[in-house]
Amino acid sequence: MPVYKAPLRDQQFVLHEVLRVVDSLRPMPPFREIDADTINQVLEEGGRFCAEVLLPLNLSGDEQGCRLDPVSHEVKTPEGFRAAFDQFREAGWQGLAAEAEFGGQALPHALQIAFDEMRCATNQSWTMYSGLTMGAYECLLANGTPQQKATYLPKLVSAEWTGTMCLTESHCGTDLGLLRTRAEPQPDGSCRITGQKIFISAGEHDLADNIVHLVLARLPDAPAGTRGISLFVVPKFLPAGEGATAGVGARNALFCGGIEHKMGIHANSTCQIVFEGATGWLVGEPNRGLNAMFVMMNGARLAVGVQGLGLTDAAYQNAAAYARERLQGKSAAPGSRSDKPADPIIVHPDVRRSLLTARAWTEGGRAFAYWLALMVDQQHHHPEASEREFAADMMALMTPVAKAFLTDNAFDGVSQCLQVFGGHGYIRESGMEQLLRDARINMIYEGTNAIQALDLLYRKVLTDAGARLRRFGELVQRFVAEHGSSAEMNEFVTPLADLADKVQKLTMEVGMKAMSNPEEVGAAAASYLRVIGHLVFAYFWARMAQVALQQAGTAADPFYRAKLATARFYFQRLLPETAYHIRAARSGAKNLMELEADLF
Ligand SMILES: Cc1cc2nc3c(=O)[nH]c(=O)nc-3n(C[C@H](O)[C@H](O)[C@H](O)COP(=O)(O)OP(=O)(O)OC[C@H]3O[C@@H](n4cnc5c(N)ncnc54)[C@H](O)[C@@H]3O)c2cc1C
Repeated sequence: MPVYKAPLRDQQFVLHEVLRVVDSLRPMPPFREIDADTINQVLEEGGRFCAEVLLPLNLSGDEQGCRLDPVSHEVKTPEGFRAAFDQFREAGWQGLAAEAEFGGQALPHALQIAFDEMRCATNQSWTMYSGLTMGAYECLLANGTPQQKATYLPKLVSAEWTGTMCLTESHCGTDLGLLRTRAEPQPDGSCRITGQKIFISAGEHDLADNIVHLVLARLPDAPAGTRGISLFVVPKFLPAGEGATAGVGARNALFCGGIEHKMGIHANSTCQIVFEGATGWLVGEPNRGLNAMFVMMNGARLAVGVQGLGLTDAAYQNAAAYARERLQGKSAAPGSRSDKPADPIIVHPDVRRSLLTARAWTEGGRAFAYWLALMVDQQHHHPEASEREFAADMMALMTPVAKAFLTDNAFDGVSQCLQVFGGHGYIRESGMEQLLRDARINMIYEGTNAIQALDLLYRKVLTDAGARLRRFGELVQRFVAEHGSSAEMNEFVTPLADLADKVQKLTMEVGMKAMSNPEEVGAAAASYLRVIGHLVFAYFWARMAQVALQQAGTAADPFYRAKLATARFYFQRLLPETAYHIRAARSGAKNLMELEADLF
């Protein structure tokens, strides 16, 4: 069975030594009392829950999958899932970062994300049931009426009820403007929701008393396209009463019409949900449903990036352990004179290349994702308007990068780790093939990575003439100015500064081309996102190297030596990928568009 050890040392390094989260959080009123000990204790406890409760259910959950009873339309999750969810609920984990007003613990998102990483590393399928609940909570918190908040939020925070997001229909995935689900207003202020959604994660299950669906639908006479979409809250059981003591009333007119049999995340139920005149209530303003849903989608996109991050670490830990034990071939190191028939495969440079790739994706991604979560806290709670605005800009700019770059890297990293196991990686028992299958969905849902790339380049960079990107560039410039004269930092700072310069030129060039041909944006976007992802990683890897260098000089802690070796690997072997992507992005749209569609 795969092993997992909570990466507490590295999490603490990122949170305390690199990001200095306590100093950053304390000016924010909800976190005045936060301290490093509290953060570390929560992570330790959370890591234990993940390793002891979630991990043992991961392989069996994958094998058993979810089962739909065609008569009752109810879904049974794999053995042990419910008990683990009960334990999670009783310990109050769901409300870790939720507002105290609704029963949460009001701890920072920067801590939540570190816990989420460990949950995804040990059981992505199980984690999704509560992950979507948090998304529903945030969406209702931002858009709900006081009565909706009072009714649903305490139940979502306590995990007695779970949440879903219902966007997709069979003919409408990326292009939500095509959606057909209808909402008919009723005299009592509710609406009757009719239509069929597909691919709804955690749409039906046996883990909670009620399931709160957030559904996109059209009101009568709504304009066509995305401007005519509204958001509704549609619970499986109608709520009886309000607040923490509310119960469930009548069954609503909706049911699970089927569950998908899919490549990965077998233990998360992916449902068709049929609404047959179900009772729902408008959330937010009519025809502004997509805007309201975006609150949920932004959080969810960062969460999906973190799913990729967790899976990469899980794969890495197992592959590294295997490589230290598996004996094949002899070391080619000069002077190596082992009299054993074979050495552990960790002696081979190419095995190390695979391991270091996964490790560099994991540790770079961890610094990036935790920083972005800190931006969530800053955006919501910082007393200075300028700090809140900066954080909002960073969130907007970096959400698509976190979603796409981390999940693309994860698929690569997990695949490299599977390779370390050779044929044994392809066999079920190693657990590696499950991780790879699970990692694949993260590149697709929550908006495919192609859509994230378009969002980044068109909406987040070109539409504001690069203003947000320049703000991130200022962080880079400040770091370069501070450390550029240090001889030992040169190997990190020089390539970082060089890439920042190239990004500026590339952005200008693509922007100019896009003015005469809008197709240039789509043609450049995927490569552009990888270049920006590397700019972010180079910045965080340089910051981590700088902290490690300070420590490596005084203490011989191997942790810092490993950090520096991985930083060097990143700069010398992964960052050069940008040269290819800059060339590809600059090559323009013609090489993609000249072939007629019927010649494909
Ligand atoms: C396991 C699973 C769980 C899911 N969970 C949920 C959920 O909880 N709630 C929910 O509402 N949905 C969910 N989805 C749906 C998911 O978000 C969609 O599958 C995804 O958004 C893509 O839509 P689609 O499958 O219809 O593909 P399409 O939109 O048909 O896209 C097909 C391909 O065309 C590309 N493409 C489409 N339009 C463009 C464009 N304008 N520019 C460039 N490329 C484009 C896409 O990148 C993709 O590669 C889930 C899906 C799966 C498989």
